[in-house]
Amino acid sequence: MESLQVSGVTVDFGGHRALDGVALTAAPGRVTGLIGPNGAGKSTLFDVVSGLRRPSSGRVHLAGRDVTRLGPARRARHGLARTFQRLELFGRLSVRDNLLVAAELGPQRRHADRVVTEILDRLGLAKIADQHADTLSTGVARLVEVGRALAVRPTLLLLDEPAAGQDAEETERFAALLRSLADDGTAVVLVEHDMGLVMSVCDEVHVLDLGKIIAVGPPEVIRNDETVLAAYLGD
Ligand code: ADP
Ligand code: MG
Repeated sequence: MESLQVSGVTVDFGGHRALDGVALTAAPGRVTGLIGPNGAGKSTLFDVVSGLRRPSSGRVHLAGRDVTRLGPARRARHGLARTFQRLELFGRLSVRDNLLVAAELGPQRRHADRVVTEILDRLGLAKIADQHADTLSTGVARLVEVGRALAVRPTLLLLDEPAAGQDAEETERFAALLRSLADDGTAVVLVEHDMGLVMSVCDEVHVLDLGKIIAVGPPEVIRNDETVLAAYLGD
């Protein structure tokens, strides 16, 4: 069964139609890419999926259940976690405490310390666990945000430009992490401008332009799709 099924989602901001009949699915064990020029509607779609914005029409299903009318907290309890394009860490808390805050909301809250220690190890963050979040480089802060999302043990993980600000080496390690999360059975949806990363880790890529899905397919097909190239060149 699909972890996420979005169908016919339309969002209007005043007179501006930011999303227009969008459909998208994400399955366990797969990394699903969502790409498109700036302003295409990618972050707005994440807001709709996570329950922060109510669409004017369309449905959102998580693991087969219609959650369109549920708020963000209820959706989180159905296994959804996300990161934000704009970093949302608690700057005056340590890396460990940023993760603990999340783990204490998750299904394994009674073992929050153990969950956090395991994630810090997995992400290579153990050595900076006691640093304040506001002392981190953007690339490392992005990784901590992913760690915080993982601390609630999500089955569906939405990542909004997680590699922005990462250097080449950090991005390479991040790609391996995404593959291993998928191998564990997580459904990952990746919004990302780094095409090298998208093309190397995604099983399937959806392309959004001006609020509409204009192409869906495996990376090697999307890379050579003329409609997609035209959308980017017209940006
Ligand atoms: P992307 O993440 O693909 O760059 P966004 O989802 O942020 O795109 O934005 C899609 C469109 O919706 C843009 O035209 C943007 O200006 C507009 N938009 C986004 N959020 C709001 C908002 N809160 N109010 C009005 N317009 C918005
Ligand atoms: Mg965005």
